[in-house]
Amino acid sequence: MLAFERIKDYEQVMFCNEPESGLKAIIVIHDTTLGPALGGTRMQPYRTVDDALEDGLRLAKGMTYKCAAADVDFGGGKAILIGDPLTDKSPDLFRAFGQFVQSLHGRFYTGTDMGTNPEDFVHAHRETRFIVGLPETYGGHGDSSVSTAHGVIYGIKAVLKRLWNDEELSDKAFAVQGLGKVGLKVAKRLLEAGATVYATDMNGNAVNELAAYAETTRGHFSAYEGDAIYDAPADIFVPCAIGGILNDRTIERLRVKGVAGSANNQLAEDRHGKALAEAGILYAPDYIVNAGGLIQVADELYGPNKERVVQKTRRIYETLSDIFETAEREGMTTDEAANVFCEKRLRAQSARSRFFLPEKPPKWRLR
Ligand code: NAD
Repeated sequence: MLAFERIKDYEQVMFCNEPESGLKAIIVIHDTTLGPALGGTRMQPYRTVDDALEDGLRLAKGMTYKCAAADVDFGGGKAILIGDPLTDKSPDLFRAFGQFVQSLHGRFYTGTDMGTNPEDFVHAHRETRFIVGLPETYGGHGDSSVSTAHGVIYGIKAVLKRLWNDEELSDKAFAVQGLGKVGLKVAKRLLEAGATVYATDMNGNAVNELAAYAETTRGHFSAYEGDAIYDAPADIFVPCAIGGILNDRTIERLRVKGVAGSANNQLAEDRHGKALAEAGILYAPDYIVNAGGLIQVADELYGPNKERVVQKTRRIYETLSDIFETAEREGMTTDEAANVFCEKRLRAQSARSRFFLPEKPPKWRLR
């Protein structure tokens, strides 16, 4: 009973075991009201199966909200592979995993997440067609961080509009934390627009690349060391590295008026949404801002169309504007308003249908 109590808000949890390849996996389907579940496959050497399950449950639920916010026809799911991505991967392991995904007949679509990469799913794809984010040579849309970065720029513009009734980037300063796949693209775009960019990354090559790029633009760039980025005299903080960075220690240091970036789970705890509002900082909820990549992989399933992805990603601006208005009108924090926005979308759809069923399974022949 204890196990069912723990998954009572979830449609389905599947444990997958294949000793030959060493596969130990958990597939979590949180909610398929909006469509089949969609969520990446994370590979990590979890200490216990309990830790792996806990992560899967948390992440699958997050995907339900993210899909609702992005207005894609998918529900929330996630897969967890228990193992060390550096030593435990093999083509057979991903083929075995692909068979388990196939056994769900389209109730769950998956692709890369932490610890897995598109090439791993080329193996899984030999067993199942329910894979997204494949390399372009296998029919995928390619690097989804391009769309994520576009979405972050729209998120930043929505924050600027709300705060200054003006979306102009050139007269504003941005503190960018993390110059990886997303952060570097965002910082370059800001510099191209003539903005001032303060940025940090422990990877010196990324910082040097941005410094050289700044020289070719009309923007201004200064490098910051580590945590000093929280003290930068910027208008907007753009977190594009790790989660948990909006917390008791950092919020009091921030000198910005707004936060909009791609990092997942930026609030260390829910209460930090309120702390930001009390500090007079407008927070653009992370899972709304960083939905561009999700929009891209979900769109693959309708057949590739880059223009449609751009159009849908642009809607992040309107969604955020709606959320900011609701937050002010209802006296909520912006992350509370974002959750209300998603739950409303889910309720509207659940009035029509409940959970997603794939095409009919093959008929068993009676012997
Ligand atoms: P990435 O691994 O390419 O880049 C992260 C960068 O942050 C790296 O260059 C790393 O050196 C740097 N970094 C790590 N800790 C740091 C710290 N404390 N201070 C400064 N820099 C630090 O990852 P990414 O794909 O660019 O994603 C960035 C964030 O956005 C992650 O939180 C990710 O979960 C989230 N996100 C990414 C996508 C996507 O499409 N790639 C989509 C949604 C959300």
